[in-house]
Amino acid sequence: MSGFNRYDPRIRPWFEWVYSAVQRLDPTARVTSTVRSSAEQARLYRRYLAGQSRYPVAPPGRSRHESGRAIDIKASPQALRRVGEYWEQLGPSFKWGGRFNDDIHFEL
Ligand SMILES: [Zn+2]
Repeated sequence: MSGFNRYDPRIRPWFEWVYSAVQRLDPTARVTSTVRSSAEQARLYRRYLAGQSRYPVAPPGRSRHESGRAIDIKASPQALRRVGEYWEQLGPSFKWGGRFNDDIHFEL
């Protein structure tokens, strides 16, 4: 998935970094979601409400994916945890979803 070009150029390097860090620990890692439109968020939220989503989904207007401040990366739980814990040490706005059953989710 080549969704990196949808990020603001000031934000993009952080998400490229976190993806490469996860990939170093798990070469099978892949990006499953980047920036979402409100329509995409609404569609995912409906799926979530219908019990068709493995991960929590915020209502439209409430997701950091819509503001271009989040990325989802599918990888081994061990790789996600290691990078997630490091990510959270980078600053107060760096949040890892592992704290709320969403370990694929990184935001800032
Ligand atoms: Zn996410």
